[in-house]
Amino acid sequence: MTRLKDRAYWLDKAATLPLEGRAFIDGRYVDAQDGATFCTRSPVDDAVLAAVAQCAKADVDLAVAAARRSFEAGVWSELAARERKAVLLKWAALLEAHTDELALLETLDSGKPIADTIGADLPGTIYCLRWFAELIDKVHGEVPATDPQFFGTVTQQPLGVVAAVVPWNYPLLMAAWKFAPALAAGNSVLLKPSEKTPLSALRIAALAMEAGVPAGVFNVLPGDGAVGRELSLHGDVDCIAFTGSGAVGRQIAQNAAASNLKRVWLELGGKSANIVMADCADITQAAQSAAAAIFANMGQVCSAGSRLLVQRSVIEPLLRELLVATDSYYPGHPLDPASVTGAIIDAVQFERVQRYIETGRHEAQLLKGGQALSPVGAGAYLEPTIFLAPDATARIANEEIFGPVLVVIPFDTLDEAIAIANQTEFGLAAAVWSSDLGTIHRATRQLRAGTVWVNCYDELVDMNFPFGGFKESGNGRDNSAHALGKYTELKSTILRCR
Ligand code: NAP
Ligand code: MG
Repeated sequence: MTRLKDRAYWLDKAATLPLEGRAFIDGRYVDAQDGATFCTRSPVDDAVLAAVAQCAKADVDLAVAAARRSFEAGVWSELAARERKAVLLKWAALLEAHTDELALLETLDSGKPIADTIGADLPGTIYCLRWFAELIDKVHGEVPATDPQFFGTVTQQPLGVVAAVVPWNYPLLMAAWKFAPALAAGNSVLLKPSEKTPLSALRIAALAMEAGVPAGVFNVLPGDGAVGRELSLHGDVDCIAFTGSGAVGRQIAQNAAASNLKRVWLELGGKSANIVMADCADITQAAQSAAAAIFANMGQVCSAGSRLLVQRSVIEPLLRELLVATDSYYPGHPLDPASVTGAIIDAVQFERVQRYIETGRHEAQLLKGGQALSPVGAGAYLEPTIFLAPDATARIANEEIFGPVLVVIPFDTLDEAIAIANQTEFGLAAAVWSSDLGTIHRATRQLRAGTVWVNCYDELVDMNFPFGGFKESGNGRDNSAHALGKYTELKSTILRCR
């Protein structure tokens, strides 16, 4: 009889879960060369989970050399696309077969609720890997019309050695958004997970080997920001694909410029505006969606709907419904399948969010929340928090908080809403709720954001849509066939035929 996957099941499983903390370089698990380690802790209860290899320059050099060797040897880069596809599909099947284990690792290391890691993070990761595997043997080059004595092609070739530096908020998913297209295209990859969440990336490396990814083609380098820095400065890394903060993104771009001009792709922060017009057809739905947009994953989402812009005539009914909807997002024990939200990633982030809440108390009206909670004991948990700002000038209305804090901003006209939405340095996502086609058309054209939702927020998990930002939210796009361009060079080949 299969056991009910309740909280007791996950706690039992957690007690005996094997945790691999060594780096994965050239097809095997290894300690850092100098033997250094650091502890990864669980945000669930602040307990130490495992000692993890603290990689440094020597380990980066070793891994880059292994990646380069494997690339030059052609063991992956020169395989037929359908052969790479078969291996990646096998890897995806192994991830699927290990869903419980990987979701549990992710929940323990990140504090995200198990319902999310089982229901979203793992399926999203597997879908991404399958999608790029399925794409890669259907990519065609071009044969331009040329002078009759010539024949030419335009083809895409892998870059070589690709470094992926990723954050802690969706550790496996953000990693897959980089490594899936990079590997599918034939590159060799160095993955640097956040020091806060290294365990799932390390575990999937063994599954990659089992699936048939050759040694040196997929490497995982745990450690702190210094590992990312070394990768960004390395003369033999061809590309660095990064998801994280703007401050680190800038350093990476500078380091790339100071070294070998490696390609730099940045997916950075956001302060996304969710605009509710008075002619919105369903205020209740808009309010429920607005709560999910900011409180899911404890607000630790780059595309979170952290600014709710509401046309003044509907602010009262909207706030009434919003306060009710917010009650569903109080954190619970992350290993309880009924929990909708879990822990904040660590004390540093917790204090940062609390400082913003303090700032908010001076510049806006606190409508709900603001307090720390302790559903587990140790561990950092926060009430979902809502402020009503008098206008759009407040700091909390412009800076990325990356926590469960929503700022509601009233407006009078569509022009004003669009101006407020576009006033920050970010441009990752936006949404508009309206039943008027003209309003929708104007808003979707004028909102300066990489993704714009209409009458929904953060919906449609579909790899066909590129994801990324305008302005200081980054450059390039993850997902969709467009992402292949980040990991390939275009080559023009021209033959003189007579
Ligand atoms: P972060 O501090 O910038 O860290 C991101 C990654 O960079 C981590 O692996 C980090 O390692 C590494 N790193 C730190 N210093 C580095 C350096 N000098 N050079 C190279 N790499 C370095 O960001 P975070 O706090 O983890 O994540 C939150 C931010 O990510 C938010 O701004 C959020 O909006 C953004 N984000 C964006 C997207 C998107 O798709 N646009 C998605 C998710 C998150 P350590 O963690 O080990 O220090
Ligand atoms: Mg951790």
